[in-house]
Amino acid sequence: MPAGETAPGDALARDFERGPIRPPSEAASLLLRVTRNCPWNRCRFCAVYKKRRFSLRPVEEVLADIDTVAAIVSETRRIPHGLGQSGAVSRAVVARMFPGGMTDACRSVVAWLRHGAGACFLQDADNLILGTDDLVRILAYLKQRLPDVRRVTTYARSRTVARKSVEALKRIREAGLDRIHIGLETGHDPLLKFIKKGVDAEGQVEAGRRVIEAGMELSEYVMPGLGGQAMWREHAVDTALAINRIHPHFIRLRSLRVPRRAPLFEEMAAGRFTPQTDDEVVAEIRLFIESLDVSAIVASDHLMNLLEGVSGKLPEDRGGMLAVIDSYLNMPGAERQIYRFGRRGGAYRDPSDLKRDPDTRERIRQTLEAIRSDHGEQGVEAAIRDLADRYV
Ligand code: SF4
Repeated sequence: MPAGETAPGDALARDFERGPIRPPSEAASLLLRVTRNCPWNRCRFCAVYKKRRFSLRPVEEVLADIDTVAAIVSETRRIPHGLGQSGAVSRAVVARMFPGGMTDACRSVVAWLRHGAGACFLQDADNLILGTDDLVRILAYLKQRLPDVRRVTTYARSRTVARKSVEALKRIREAGLDRIHIGLETGHDPLLKFIKKGVDAEGQVEAGRRVIEAGMELSEYVMPGLGGQAMWREHAVDTALAINRIHPHFIRLRSLRVPRRAPLFEEMAAGRFTPQTDDEVVAEIRLFIESLDVSAIVASDHLMNLLEGVSGKLPEDRGGMLAVIDSYLNMPGAERQIYRFGRRGGAYRDPSDLKRDPDTRERIRQTLEAIRSDHGEQGVEAAIRDLADRYV
């Protein structure tokens, strides 16, 4: 039996480590944890890894996790009409193969196989912090043991990426890393300082350009709403300027929500940060989209975004994206409120859904009326806020 393999049957009971989050676009990806938590951990809007200590996982441990995944894959593919190939497996077969129930690890691999086993996302927040040799070793082993993987992606911080030479990034690319997701958030320097991102706009541009020069795809996350009432306009314009200098492949919108655990919540409570309303954030996104001068895919695939329809390819789909925004902004206030409640409750993706489903619209209208008669207008806004905050 080759090193790293297990006896038949053992694999399904084994576990491997996974971290807490992934980008929405990696929902169908295999999740492999390469580092734990965030080495920076100071961004004021972010609560994901607060109070969790950063650590590099020993390379041997990560390789052992890859072995575990490979063993689960090979074991599940022995099942007639394999779990990973047809997906059409009866409960009886699953019960026979997993008498003790599937481990979470096994379940995640089976789901990944059902999605075609094409993509792998390396967790957690900043994997370019690994030494280049170590990262190359992990990527090469991943390709060797899981040859069906066609795309490997990870998160990284601009500051960390900018410390790697283009030659080092090219080695990482050649070893198999296809795409890096970077949280740019904003290109406005005073705002980058306020949120403690640990990098300025110039550093963000430099990092993004290096990723592209190394031949990798680049996905930049932008955070509408982050400028609050004080800096929203500069935030929109300077972020577009930074993106226009980087030319990323993907621009992903993830609108601000402030969890209680995030340091920004205290700033908000103390009156040092005044958030925008939903309508104001939509107007800010309009200005941002108008100011972009790139060829890139815009994605609004995050639950925090009010309008999923602000998505498409620039420049050709700019008109369509602005039309979605205008269709929202031009609705009467009562309709916008119905839409916001429905969107935050998971019923809607963009304003055209209101007309498509009049029954749901009427139910929401009646619900809002009932809340308004008991708790007034403030109660309606609080209900919408509570629905949205379920996701943070
Ligand atoms: S770098 Fe990313 S994960 Fe780390 S604190 Fe900032 S936003 Fe959070």
